[in-house]
Amino acid sequence: MTTFTNISYIATKAVATDTGFHGIEAASGNALEGTFANNTIEDVDLAVKAAKEAFATYSNTSAKERANFLNTIATEIEARRDAIVARAMLETGLPEARLIGETGRTTGQIRMFANMLEEGSWVRAVIDTADPQRQPLPKPDIRLTTVPTGPVAVFGASNFPLAFSTAGGDTASALAAGCPVIVKGHGSHPGTAILVAEAINAAIKICAMPLGTFSIISSSISHIGADLVKHPLIKAVGFTGSVGGGRALFDLCKARLEPIPFYGELGSTNPVFLLPDALNNRLDSIASGFVGSLNMGCGQFCTNPGLLVALKGADLDSLLAKVTQQLSTVDPQTMLSPSIANAYRANAESRTSIDGVDVIARGAAASDLQAESMIAKVSAQAWLQHNELEHEVFGPFSLVIECDDFSQMQAVIERMHGHLTATIHAESSDDESTATLLSMLRDKVGRILMNSWPTGVEVCQAMQHGGPYPAATFSPTSVGGRAIDRWVRPVAYQDVADNLLPDELKKDNPLRILRLIDGKYVR
Ligand code: NAP
Repeated sequence: MTTFTNISYIATKAVATDTGFHGIEAASGNALEGTFANNTIEDVDLAVKAAKEAFATYSNTSAKERANFLNTIATEIEARRDAIVARAMLETGLPEARLIGETGRTTGQIRMFANMLEEGSWVRAVIDTADPQRQPLPKPDIRLTTVPTGPVAVFGASNFPLAFSTAGGDTASALAAGCPVIVKGHGSHPGTAILVAEAINAAIKICAMPLGTFSIISSSISHIGADLVKHPLIKAVGFTGSVGGGRALFDLCKARLEPIPFYGELGSTNPVFLLPDALNNRLDSIASGFVGSLNMGCGQFCTNPGLLVALKGADLDSLLAKVTQQLSTVDPQTMLSPSIANAYRANAESRTSIDGVDVIARGAAASDLQAESMIAKVSAQAWLQHNELEHEVFGPFSLVIECDDFSQMQAVIERMHGHLTATIHAESSDDESTATLLSMLRDKVGRILMNSWPTGVEVCQAMQHGGPYPAATFSPTSVGGRAIDRWVRPVAYQDVADNLLPDELKKDNPLRILRLIDGKYVR
């Protein structure tokens, strides 16, 4: 890292700026070796123009070529794994085992997109053949496929320095779709971001992809990301972060002369509902599951269980007594950055100072850079009067909402905004209430879990990681195979000669993919 001075990479070329900033060690707040770029609006323009130039070639590469490119990125990240993990540990305070696991998740999702490209059916080709005899008018031949949208901007997330950052899900899915990517590196892990960028740069060179296919920019002195999303050649944006930052960028995307989609994941409190028989039968496992999920990654997961909703009574009291005892034994953990630690304290303080909110359990914290886990309790009636009690407190904080009866539990759901997940703990004897909750929660979240905990998102084809606002701004998931839908748009070809059609739409199906032809799925 000592060799890095005010560094960024634009179209694989090292671009050093006049001034730069240090990465900060999460555990001490001290500056780390190496400095990173304070890129300018001119650098943004350079990166986006290179991406636009690359788009002409890159968007026309075959699926096989792009699959090979993605697999090479994964291999290049693995080749640098030890250095990436060592730097990420310093910058984020996350433990080695978590970061090794996250590297595996990152390369695993990159390879998942490579496999999708090789299989080919992800383009969802639809063919409605012509019927020249149709009365009163002949029916034309119409064939639908998807095409990449163009250069996209991706904002690295602070809480997943690998899997949601430089070569994370947004970058992998956009590159798979055929879109060049410009990453706005997150200021809390700039060294990690640069090391991962070097893996992508190496893959670009090995696979002879256009150089502008990838760039990474950063700045500690201006919101350079705003210049990026306003650039007229950017066609879509992927973001994970705060409601404030995300909303500011979303509004910029909408206000452009050409509005563009902003796929943002902004904030979620992931309510967990405890039904009476589950609470009665599984009190111990629910208590330990709750404390474990709340503290995973120091609560800095977008799927952290920030609300626990249950009926008041002796069972809930016993559960909270167990939870209080267990929380007092949880080791303190360092937060991702000093600013996130400060924000956690301020947000927890603002929620617990509201009338009717009582802190019932606390963990330990040894320094200002660590989080004191906290559980507070509020009556459903008081919760319903304070919208702010639903907003995310990023960190190991959860609010227990005590309901008088099941109808009050339903009133709580009725008032809820969008979340990424909802979880129900229930026995089969609770089925009637479970069915009611399922039908209500379907309209509020992107994923419903039964008898489990929301932290931990499986990367697979069936995953939906998103939800109604503010959990997400638009529905395509940020995790799993369908994330590729963020970066493509449909195009229909009408009465185009077979030899001029893209391969996925040709009569003989040379790619052997699954297609919907005249209403029937055939391969
Ligand atoms: P953030 O402040 O929203 O920043 C995320 C990215 O957006 C950064 O690259 C930031 O860059 C950029 N940005 C923020 N405000 C901007 C603006 N007005 N104009 C242009 N760019 C802007 O999120 P964070 O730094 O990761 O963490 C802060 C808080 O976000 C946390 O305390 C937590 O509340 C929330 N968060 C939530 C999740 C989740 O999964 N739900 C994940 C991470 C964070 P610059 O500041 O350099 O411009």
